[in-house]
Parts: sequence; structure tokens; C-alpha cells
Amino acid sequence: MPRESTVMTMYAVGGLLAIILATIHLFCLVFFCEYVFYYIVISQCSWPDIQKNDQNPPLKVMLLADTHLLGPYRGHWFDKLRREWQMYRSFQTAVELFRPEAVFILGDLFDEGKWVTDPEFSNYVERYQNLFSVPDSTKLFGIVGNHDIGFHYEARQRLTKRFEESFHTTGVSLLTLRDIHFVLVNSIAMEGDGCYLCSEAESQLRNISRIFRCSRNIGNCKDVPTLSSYSKPILLQHYPLYRESDRDCQEHDPIPLELYRERWEVLSQESSDLIGELISPRIAFSGHSHNYCRLTVTQAAWRKYPNPMNQGVIGTDVVDRKVVNGVLHTHRLVSSKWYFPKWAQKASVIASGHPYWLIYKE
Ligand SMILES: [Zn+2]
Repeated sequence: MPRESTVMTMYAVGGLLAIILATIHLFCLVFFCEYVFYYIVISQCSWPDIQKNDQNPPLKVMLLADTHLLGPYRGHWFDKLRREWQMYRSFQTAVELFRPEAVFILGDLFDEGKWVTDPEFSNYVERYQNLFSVPDSTKLFGIVGNHDIGFHYEARQRLTKRFEESFHTTGVSLLTLRDIHFVLVNSIAMEGDGCYLCSEAESQLRNISRIFRCSRNIGNCKDVPTLSSYSKPILLQHYPLYRESDRDCQEHDPIPLELYRERWEVLSQESSDLIGELISPRIAFSGHSHNYCRLTVTQAAWRKYPNPMNQGVIGTDVVDRKVVNGVLHTHRLVSSKWYFPKWAQKASVIASGHPYWLIYKE
């Protein structure tokens, strides 16, 4: 018979072992969800498969927009911590796996850039640099958005200047990477009202236009620098170019979209025409008005079934429905067909690509 003290010791050791095992499990779980999982998901993306030319390989560029780093006035600290960790891990994993040569963030880098004091802005810049730190082989460019310096009516010179000091771009600039030309535009300076910001940006745009024209031997080119090789530029800015709305989207059963307001959700028609006329971009990328994709995601979650955006759910039946104290209570039977994710199918014999059927009551 073990003595009482021995039994106590065995219990204590067992308890300690259980705590150690639980800690190890918890650590592994957190490590998997907060680190490994990003690699598993992001590694399923790839660069487009284009014809390779060893002499002149394609330029690999990553575009992001509207990162909206939360500031000191809005949001809960835990929300900030969580969001920034997810943004940091997604960005760092993508950069590590895909090694882009340049990363462009198309405006609204900060959520409260127009409101913060100078020391708070410096803190913002520091967080931005940590979050989006890139290896030496990658160049990072931040483009100005309305949350960084305000809409045109609120873009004070002081706000523009401090953005310029940190990001070296607040007007219109030309950037050439391996003979591919990018024109970076401050959309807030495209109001066309002749203000200090707009007149300088327009004059920069005209200078760049002259460089493009002279690179094609057009016009009077005295004292105008030329490019070693001309190709149509890629336009990068925060506001989208003018369009009436995104109503014409060809999505499944789209909800009615509002008309866009010039100078708010999109650039004015006049400025869009001016940019087109002066630099003839081959393609344009922007951020800011992002209801299109967001609606796609929302619709996928909320539309009735059958829903081509959520093909896993194959049927729903109402079992019981009643109103109690003005609240609608529904019991539905949802039948869904689903697969394990591709990575899990590869890793497991059980989940080898067969669909699984699930019928549940909600
Ligand atoms: Zn914006």
C-alpha cells in the first residue's frame, strides 16, 4: 500500500504533467493558427503563368490599398492589436513566399492620418515601417489617400508636408522599374481648382507627359529628359478614375449600387480625362471605393440558397418558425456538401478529395 505522502506526490506530478501538456498543446495551437496557417493559405496563390524570357524576366509587383492602420482615437486597443498582427503576418508571409520586386500601397495607409498630431503621426509612420518592412531586394512605395491628409477641402499644407517628408510623394511622380513606367498620382491634388496642391500636381503631370512624348520623338524636346525605352505607363492612385457607378458589374444578382460622386468616391470626369490625355496609361489601379468586392463577399454570406457564390449549401428547409415577443425564431434544416481544404486532402488519407455531407438544424 503506498503511503499517503506518496499518493499525494503522484497526484502532484500527474497534475503538473497535465498542466505542461496543456501548455504545450496551447502553444502548438497558437503557433499553428497565428504563424503556420498563413503559409498554408498564402502558398496556394501563385504568380500568373506568363511566358518566361530569361533575358527580360517579368517584373513582380504587389499592390495593396486602404490598409487603414487604426489611430489613437477610434477602435479598441485589442482590435488594433489583432488586425495589425493579421496584416503583419499576411504581408510578411506573402513577401517571403513571392518576393515581389516592388510593393505599392495605394493610399489610406492610415485611418486617422488627417487628425493626428505630429508626434502621433511619427508613431504611425514607425508602425507602418515595422508592419510593412521589406527585404533590401524589394522597394516599398506608399501613395497618399484622403485618410492620410484629408479630402481636398481639408488637406492643409502642414498635413501634406509631413506626409511628403515620410513618403517622398505627394504630387505626381514618375517611377521606372526595369523599363516599366509607373505614374504615381495624389488624387486629392486632382481637384483642378488651381490651389497650391493642384497647380503643382498638374504641372508635374504635364512635365511627365512631355518626357513620354519626347521619348517617342514628339514635340519640342529641348532640355527634356527622355526614357531609355518608352512603353505606356501604369497609373497608380488612391481614387478610381471616373465612372458613373459599378452598377454594370456582371456579378450574380448584384444589389443596386449607388452612383459615385465625383471628387468623393471617384476622380472627377475632367481630371480623369486630363490624365488619360496626358499620359495614356495602359492600365490603372486604385483603392478607396471598394464596395464592389466587399459586396461580393457579403452577398456570398447572406444570399438565399442556391447561391453560386456558396455552392457548399445544397438546400434549406424550414422546420419551425414562430414570433415570440416580437422576435422571429426559426429552425431550419441546412444540407451542405463540403470538402476538406486542398492542403488537408494532401496531408490525410481520410480526407482524400471526397465530398462530405452535413445536415444540421439551426
Ligand atoms: Zn479613401
